[in-house]
Amino acid sequence: MIDLHCHSFHSDGTDAPERLPHFAEAIGLTALALTDHDTVDGLPAFLAQQPFVKVRLLAGTELSCHFMGKSLHVLGLLVDPHDARFAKRLVELRSRREDRNQRLLARLNGLGVSLTFEAIQAEADSPLISRVHVAKALVTSGTFGTIQEAFSKLLGDGKPGCVPREELSPKEAALWIREAGGVPLVAHPGRFAGPSFRWDEAMTELRQEGMAGFETVYGDYGPQEEAYFRALADRLGMVESGGSDYHGHNKPGVALGGGRKGIRVPDAFLEGIERNQARGDWN
Ligand code: AMP
Ligand code: MN
Ligand code: MN
Ligand code: MN
Repeated sequence: MIDLHCHSFHSDGTDAPERLPHFAEAIGLTALALTDHDTVDGLPAFLAQQPFVKVRLLAGTELSCHFMGKSLHVLGLLVDPHDARFAKRLVELRSRREDRNQRLLARLNGLGVSLTFEAIQAEADSPLISRVHVAKALVTSGTFGTIQEAFSKLLGDGKPGCVPREELSPKEAALWIREAGGVPLVAHPGRFAGPSFRWDEAMTELRQEGMAGFETVYGDYGPQEEAYFRALADRLGMVESGGSDYHGHNKPGVALGGGRKGIRVPDAFLEGIERNQARGDWN
């Protein structure tokens, strides 16, 4: 059993990257990938734990893309954490995020929500500021009772306080990830569009843009979604990935390895991803 999707405090999780391998070992995982948003900064500390655990530790990241008018997340598994061009591209991506954060704060103030940038920063353990940290600051200030309430009433996609940022195209994200030696995989397609959405055409398009596969097993999926996406991967001949999307205390109820309802990601998924990486016929 493996987990190919989790976050540390280098993006919007709450755990130190060097702690995660030990949590994984304690629950009997055989492999774990760290996939922080828009950064590889947590990877050195994470990978440095390899001599001390039996769990295979894998590099990863998660990039936000623009697709069909919405935000689509893409995992870059097995990227080279020392790739200088990739690191530079991520710096550019984070500067777009910082620009969004400034506009987001102005929007909130305009809506009559009093909040300072310092209060948001105080909620983060790394320089990367995510909407989760804004949500936490709003809980600290007493504006909302929970992070979830802050998202459902103000910050969530399509809500009054949601300010989009300039995002990559799926094609760009796939190219960046491939050029860094990794495998591009669509994260949690079931969260992008609900259960009634027919993915055949959209996923075929995403494959043409360079996606090798997608998450068929995911921390928030129910059994029906999992069955649907596993069958789709089989039908399209695409690679399967799976993970919990563990964020520590920032996503209560989602456990490392098991997600919300006790998923099991088979080791064979990683073998498929590694075969895809080794083939190197992505151009
Ligand atoms: P950002 O990358 O700064 O736009 O923030 C996106 C992050 O906010 C996601 O990765 C989730 O961790 C979190 N998030 C987005 N929407 C929600 C939601 N409706 N409920 C809880 N967390 C959310
Ligand atoms: Mn997140
Ligand atoms: Mn995501
Ligand atoms: Mn994630």
